[in-house]
Amino acid sequence: MRCRICGRKPVIYMPHHRLALCREDFASWFERYTDRTVREFGMFTSEDRILVAVSGGKDSLALWHVLRKLGYRADGLYVHLGIGDYSERSRRKVEDFARSIGAGLLLVDLTQELAGIPDLERLSARSACSLCGMVKRYNFNRVAREHGYSVLATGHNLDDEASSLLANLIHWNLKYLGRKYPVLEEEGGFVRKVKPFCKFTEKETALYALLNGIEFVEEECPFSEDASTIFYKDILNRIEERFPGTKLRFYLEYLRKVYPRFREEEEEGALGLCRVCGEPTPAEVCPVCRLRERILNFKKDSNGA
Ligand SMILES: [Zn+2]
Ligand SMILES: [Zn+2]
Repeated sequence: MRCRICGRKPVIYMPHHRLALCREDFASWFERYTDRTVREFGMFTSEDRILVAVSGGKDSLALWHVLRKLGYRADGLYVHLGIGDYSERSRRKVEDFARSIGAGLLLVDLTQELAGIPDLERLSARSACSLCGMVKRYNFNRVAREHGYSVLATGHNLDDEASSLLANLIHWNLKYLGRKYPVLEEEGGFVRKVKPFCKFTEKETALYALLNGIEFVEEECPFSEDASTIFYKDILNRIEERFPGTKLRFYLEYLRKVYPRFREEEEEGALGLCRVCGEPTPAEVCPVCRLRERILNFKKDSNGA
């Protein structure tokens, strides 16, 4: 097999594109393909100010790298989750990376603003992963809005999107089917959210990060992805092995055929704004403000004891 562009030895063969590419041609293909996805879904233009949510992992750092390289105005946002050494190492990777590309970085320290994930888990009935998702979404939106960014970009890849689609399909979670899309427009206090890597497999983003010498945190979060996510990713990879191209087609055909039908049904009542912090929420007080209240009460109680 040879690189389709130059005929040299390839570093990757992508059966879903029937495309083999060498190092150089893969990197430039990856960048052009990202830009095509951005334009295909109308994610943003060079006028927009983009905030990239970075965790220190390969996907988000690669995304930030590509967007800057394509000439977009993209800064980073890191939420420090207070998960021991793991969070410290991730923070350092993100800070070093921001410096190396000369880009602006915003930091939210959860241990100062609220409490670290391990402490939150002790105070809540929810799992660490669900709390983490909630406080990250909350802070991504709040910070983007407060600092005047028009778009929030995350590094979700095809494996993330296709596996969560499969999990939600199996449970016939129709609400999800009308909500999952690579672009969610600004609405009712939410900034526009985009996923420019939604058509790249995990293998492709990892290779791009490696070829560009991007230093990312390789270890998984100690709380790790929940077991069911890993299971659905694994199943999809096994289907992909047997029938190459299935994963991408499964996702793209959902976007084309299924999402438009369920989207209308999803039109729910408008969200209100949290009485305390002003972020959008269906309740009077948003879940993050309720957590904060619980932490304050807990501190009061333990001081009084
Ligand atoms: Zn080549
Ligand atoms: Zn609130």
